[in-house]
Amino acid sequence: MKLAVLTIFPELFVPFWEHGMIRRAVEADKISASAVNIRDFAEGRHHSTDDSPYGGGCGMVMNAPPLAAAIRAVRSGMPGARTVLLTPQGRVFTQDIARELAEKEGLIFVCGRYEGIDERICQDFADDEISIGDYVMTGGELAAMVIIDAVTRLIPGVLGGEDSAEKDSFSEGLLEHAHYTRPRIFEDEQVPEVLLSGHHRQIGKWRLESSLIRTFLKRPDLLANRVLSRTESEILRKWCLDIENILRAQSLSGADPLSGKQ
Ligand code: SAM
Repeated sequence: MKLAVLTIFPELFVPFWEHGMIRRAVEADKISASAVNIRDFAEGRHHSTDDSPYGGGCGMVMNAPPLAAAIRAVRSGMPGARTVLLTPQGRVFTQDIARELAEKEGLIFVCGRYEGIDERICQDFADDEISIGDYVMTGGELAAMVIIDAVTRLIPGVLGGEDSAEKDSFSEGLLEHAHYTRPRIFEDEQVPEVLLSGHHRQIGKWRLESSLIRTFLKRPDLLANRVLSRTESEILRKWCLDIENILRAQSLSGADPLSGKQ
């Protein structure tokens, strides 16, 4: 996949391309990545890329001509690429969108600064507008990095374990199970015994339970919208029964605060 980022701060991307998974993906030819300086497409002695807004008001707006020239130049070397405008007004980035983008031949990210970019670029050049969340940052560069990271790790062959991305949180509609590694005992806390048993079915069942409980506690909205498998329903029903039994025992012992007996 070809990736290009249009920015007035291309140097921010140098360490990004040169570390970890992104670097390995570049070295393995899974992606090619470049940051293009919008200023190189700006005319005039100062290569200015912004101006004050028509209609008045504070802040500056990024000019259309250098952005249009930069997008056209990059597109000519990346036919079929999707041009993504980073903006807090775009659709909110999710794992599903990451999967969608991972299928593309190429992605061109346009990073805004100041008050944003001239509306004519949004209308005539953007194929997509993406936000990384309901908050406002000073520029689109961090948003581009977030999206590039999440997308690159979904490209087949980029991650070491072929299935690691498939089991991540959200990939199967649940949060991922808890993880443990050495040491076996850390500050009196033990690794769950089942994970040391070598019994793959039991470990699989424990991981599913761990996924379900974490999703229930941290993101119940994901469970509410999920079509449960038979095993998942059985696990949830068993928890309900366990909870009912605890409440019944409380009530029989007279300790149930709702029974009014305390
Ligand atoms: N005035 C704009 C508004 O209210 O919609 C915000 C402009 S923001 C200060 C400058 C640039 O940062 C934007 O053009 C965009 O590229 C980037 N940006 C800020 N927040 C973002 C977010 N949540 N997701 C993606 N990009 C963002």
